[in-house]
Formats: sequence, C-alpha cells, structure tokens
Amino acid sequence: MERIYNFSAGPSMLPLPVLEQAQKELTNYKNSGMSVMELSHRSGWFKEIIEGAEQGLRNLMKIPDNYRVLFLQGGASQQFSMVPMNLLGPSEKVDYVHTGSWSKKAMKEAEKFAEVNVIASSEDGNFTYIPEVTKNMIDEEASYVHITTNNTIEGTAFRNIPDTGDVPLVADMSSNILSEEVDVSKFGLIYAGAQKNIGPAGLTVVIIRDDLIGHADANVPAMLDYKTHSDAGSLYNTPPTFAIYMAKLVFEYIENLGGLKTMEKINREKAELLYETIENSDLFTSPVKKDSRSLMNIPFVSPSAQTDAEFLEEAQERGLETLKGHRSVGGMRASIYNAMPQEGVQALVRFMDEFEHHRNK
Ligand code: PLP
Repeated sequence: MERIYNFSAGPSMLPLPVLEQAQKELTNYKNSGMSVMELSHRSGWFKEIIEGAEQGLRNLMKIPDNYRVLFLQGGASQQFSMVPMNLLGPSEKVDYVHTGSWSKKAMKEAEKFAEVNVIASSEDGNFTYIPEVTKNMIDEEASYVHITTNNTIEGTAFRNIPDTGDVPLVADMSSNILSEEVDVSKFGLIYAGAQKNIGPAGLTVVIIRDDLIGHADANVPAMLDYKTHSDAGSLYNTPPTFAIYMAKLVFEYIENLGGLKTMEKINREKAELLYETIENSDLFTSPVKKDSRSLMNIPFVSPSAQTDAEFLEEAQERGLETLKGHRSVGGMRASIYNAMPQEGVQALVRFMDEFEHHRNK
C-alpha cells in the first residue's frame, strides 16, 4: 500500500528518509549485530546516539551553553507537574496564559502546588485568538510565566514571544518546536512531547536554563527532579533509547534540509496555501483570528455537520487521513507538521476546491 497523507495532530508523520534509514539499520545498527532497541543504554553505541541527538538539537535551535537539554519520559503532560514542582519559589505564585485545552490542563496540575494567576486568557473568544501579554501584567514575585506557544486543538499560535523581564518564561512547545526559528534565550524552560515534530511518542524534550535546576523540594521524587536527569546526562535510568535515536535522525534530516530557517520557509508556504484556500472558499471558513493563526494546526469548518462528514469520508477515500477536528471544536483540522510534504497540502487544497465545486453544480 502507498503511504498516505496523515493530517493527525499527533503522533504524526515522520520524514520518509528518516523512516527508511531506521529501516535499513533496524536489525544491525552500525555492524553492532544488534538493533538500536537491543543496545545497552550504557554502551558506546548509545552514548554516541544520545550525545549526537543533543548536539543535533543544540545546533538546530542554537541553544546557548547555559542551557541543559534533557531527554525524559512522561510526555508533555508530566511537565505540567514537573514545572511547578521544580521551579516554585518562596512566593508560591505562578502566572499562566490561558489559551485552550492544554493550558487548562497545565494550570490544573500547577494548582496542586502553587497559587495560579491567569494573567491573560482568550476564553471569552472561545480560544480563537492569542491574548496580548505585556510586562505590566506579570507579577514580579511569580516563579514563572507559562505559555503554550502553539495550541494544537484550537489552531492558534503566539506570533510574538512575550517579554517577561526577570520572571522566567516557561513554554509548552509540544506542537511547534522545530517548526520555525526561535530565540531560546527568551525562555527559562521549553518542553515538548516528541510525537509531532521530533520523533516517536515516548520521548519528552526539556531545554532548561542552568540556574533553574536544583530548586525542587527534598520530598520531590528523584525521577521528577530536573537535577537528577541533568546530573546523569539523561541516563539516570533507562531512557527511551529508540525514540532518542529516531529524534537524532530527524534532527540530522532538518539540518541537511537547511536548518530551521528553511523549515520555517517551507512551513509558511504550506500554511499560506491552506489558509488562502480557506479564505477564497465560499464553503469553508477558519474560526481563528488572522493574527493568531498556527502554522502547524489549521482548523476549518463548513456550514453543517453533514457536509463535514461527507468531506471527511471523501477525503479519506483519497488518502487524506485524520482530518476530523478535535471533538471540542468540531469541523476539520489539518495538522501539517514538519514532515507533511508540500504535495500533501497541495493534494488537500485540490480536493477542497473539487469538493466545493462539485456541491455548487
Ligand atoms: N501540550 C500540547 C500543546 C499538546 O499538543 C499535547 C498533545 O497533543 C500535550 C501537551 C500533551 O502531550 P503528551 O501526550 O506528550 O503528554
């Protein structure tokens, strides 16, 4: 069977050359006589893989030397708890920007440890825009400010990273990490589940500024303390070895493509093509405000649930898969992460045009 265009919000497509390389090396990695899955995480082979993965990410994101890169497990959801457990200062106050379902979950966990202040929210507009965040909104005593840079379900993204002054900025970058250039020095901590732009599910990447490590309470479990993993070079216990290997291949693939500058250019072209098609359509509309639109997750709706259902069924017949919108939003959602080829988006917009044309006959 041919590969399909998978518009899933995650886990999502991986670059085909990466899958092919993994396939080639699957049963015998570099003449070890073993699969990467069978290698000891203490072996020289794996040491080279994890160090290469870290260096690959550092090169791509131009991560400054005073930041550590951690390869963890537990998903972005575990970071919802680890962030307050590790970063909370004496005031026990934290500031959150509420932009959708994922920020809500992050806040719910933080409330178990901290006094959570919502300093800006787009709940009044059903999360169809990114609220403005200015320095004067931030409590100087807050331990950190938390944002979700890309809202996977709602299809919104911060176009400008807020300046939070001396208060560390923490970002859930799960659904747009590596999609565009980013100035890491603006953040105290960045976290992301791997399963969209990095690699297979099971790996969570944390990029943390040195000075934010080592402040967890003594009763925080070792596995939930950033210091444990930082001190051990992400080898305190058995890490998700195969996922880290795949991430390394993805980082190399993006680097060979031309790095994040090129990746961003391609992503902008893909997103523009889809947004333009929606704008020019008399059938489909975007629920998201123009200045807040995501390059990665693009929701669109037709006037009726019946039409949505017909569209989804016919799309599937053409190998355009997983276009159903999240149950909380409805309609359609095309997730066009890094590995979605331009041809995939072209095939989608061609089908959208045809579908609309056909109905008007
Ligand atoms: N945050 C965002 C923005 C997400 O898109 C997701 C998953 O889709 C999560 C957090 C949860 O990630 P995980 O499933 O890795 O816990």
